[in-house]
Amino acid sequence: MYRTFMAIFAHPDDESFGTAGTFAALTKAGARVVLVCATRGEVGEIADPALATPETLAAVRERELRYSAQAIGADPPILLSYRDSGMAGTVDNEHENAFAVAAPDEVIGQLVRLIREHKPDVLITFDPSGGYGHPDHIAAHKAATRAYRDAGNPECFPEQLAALEPHAPNLLLYMAIPRTQLRTLAEKMDAAGVSMGIIENFEEIGTPDEHVHIELDVSETYDAKLASLNCHATQNPEQSLWRTLRPEDLREILSLESFTQAHPPPDRFQSGTPAEIFLRR
Ligand SMILES: [Zn+2]
Repeated sequence: MYRTFMAIFAHPDDESFGTAGTFAALTKAGARVVLVCATRGEVGEIADPALATPETLAAVRERELRYSAQAIGADPPILLSYRDSGMAGTVDNEHENAFAVAAPDEVIGQLVRLIREHKPDVLITFDPSGGYGHPDHIAAHKAATRAYRDAGNPECFPEQLAALEPHAPNLLLYMAIPRTQLRTLAEKMDAAGVSMGIIENFEEIGTPDEHVHIELDVSETYDAKLASLNCHATQNPEQSLWRTLRPEDLREILSLESFTQAHPPPDRFQSGTPAEIFLRR
């Protein structure tokens, strides 16, 4: 029986598409969800100039994340103080405070401290590809995976142990977007006459289906998940998929969330609702 779940992501809105339904179901059933976000997404989209300027975007997106956390019943989010590194190959990669170039030990130390403070049973982050290769997603994946291992080891960051105890979570999960789900999405978007945008090369970026170990039916928390997506208004232009797909197609796409079980090695494939898989064992 798991009680506390901690997600380590890079930007406000990373929690929405792939995990919000799961988190809403878990909090509804009494579990605790802690969202950790490395940056404020300061070089993200501004879908509508009425919502933010480049100068205010960080503050606006922090607020969007706070509302999203509320919508899914999570604790108030914990934001680290790094800067969004932008897409691969852009000048923002080189900013002195960019998350993707931060000293790994400094990031891992902060995550280990948060794990020791909040004692999650389950840790969730991106897969090694970062979903679609965003440098911040890959950095979050690497740091969270190391922190998962180090937090329970008293030899790691021993200076924290004056006030905290080592804590090893039981389970490490990677958010997965299966290729078959992306293909279905691409077909539905094609039918609706909209572009996939950043996820055009979906054959290469989705999680290979054989790496999916846990498949969750999150249809019961569809409304909370949609609310979470809608909280991130700056990231949702008119042509975003949840504004353009037919309602029944959208419901089908958003009602499935998947995970790779990174540690311990899975002994079988599991499917069910989040409460069935995580809270009734
Ligand atoms: Zn992101």
